[in-house]
Amino acid sequence: MTLMLSLEEFLRRIPKVDIHYHIMGGVSPNTMYELNLKYHGGLSYSQIEDYFVRDVNKSKGAIYALEMLYSLMREHDDLYRVAYEIGRSSSNNGVRYQELTWNPGEIAMPYTDATESLIAGFFKAEQDFGTVTRLIPGINRERSPEHAVEMVTDVVNHPYSEVIGIGMDYKEHDAPPEIFWKAYRIAKDAGLLLTAHCCEWEMHWRNLETALDLLQCDRIDHGYSVLDSEQLTARCRDNGVFFTVVPSNSYFWKKYGGNTPEWRSNHPLRRMLRSGLRIIPATDDPELHLTNATNCYRSLIEDFNFSIDDIRQCIVNGIDGCWASSNHKKLWHCNWLKEFDELRLQLTDQFE
Ligand SMILES: [Zn+2]
Repeated sequence: MTLMLSLEEFLRRIPKVDIHYHIMGGVSPNTMYELNLKYHGGLSYSQIEDYFVRDVNKSKGAIYALEMLYSLMREHDDLYRVAYEIGRSSSNNGVRYQELTWNPGEIAMPYTDATESLIAGFFKAEQDFGTVTRLIPGINRERSPEHAVEMVTDVVNHPYSEVIGIGMDYKEHDAPPEIFWKAYRIAKDAGLLLTAHCCEWEMHWRNLETALDLLQCDRIDHGYSVLDSEQLTARCRDNGVFFTVVPSNSYFWKKYGGNTPEWRSNHPLRRMLRSGLRIIPATDDPELHLTNATNCYRSLIEDFNFSIDDIRQCIVNGIDGCWASSNHKKLWHCNWLKEFDELRLQLTDQFE
């Protein structure tokens, strides 16, 4: 007799990637509290917990918490610990491969020291739990384009095989992609792959077009405004542009009043899927969004009406859109999908 799997267990076990994930957004409240104690930060546990409360009326978002977390990363052990814990948690949620981002410019440690601490922590986690991690240093676009050039030059001058590309995050409102073209060109010329946060707050779709045409991004984080232009949607569909999309994205969640019918019907990710765009579900800031890779996929089914076939397509998109080697991708296509289909056979009847 075959044992039946609950939906949650199925979604936990299916092999998956998570390739839009901010390392600071994966720090648990407990770790933040202990680092705060270590550095005599003076925050009580309830003050720490407050950073992790998900409330539509909360005025301060994830970026506010990220700033506090960066200030607690001061030496090797801090980053090593955070990396190791993230590797363990991702593995517990069936993430076999992840590409994680962080902002080297926000940590008061030399780029090389911080990178080596993260690589060491993730490597130990890979040995203990199996999840493979690669790194994407991110431009904080709230700082200047010159700062971005400096950061990327530092990355290019100190190559690591685990550092495979660059990204760009923080608020897009006063920092359109074009002002960062030079940093992106330096990265591209050095052979790094490119992504950028784009249209997260319903910015004009032109920002997406600029990220593709001028920055020459290999994939896009968010990119929701693509749906505002039929032409751009068709172009992205025809060219197979990959979008990492976040079911727990705070902007739409707040805009539509939390977990409401409006949120469920207006979050763009379902329309992106139906438009034939290659979307890859991601956790973004899992601890701050009170989620993980399992719940990310669960939300697609329970909140956004995805079918198991849609989930399978998302897994395929993740394999194709991640930056692992083509040999790994071929292997994963074969092994992961076989595993997916075997687990699917054990899924309780209501989902088939
Ligand atoms: Zn993000």
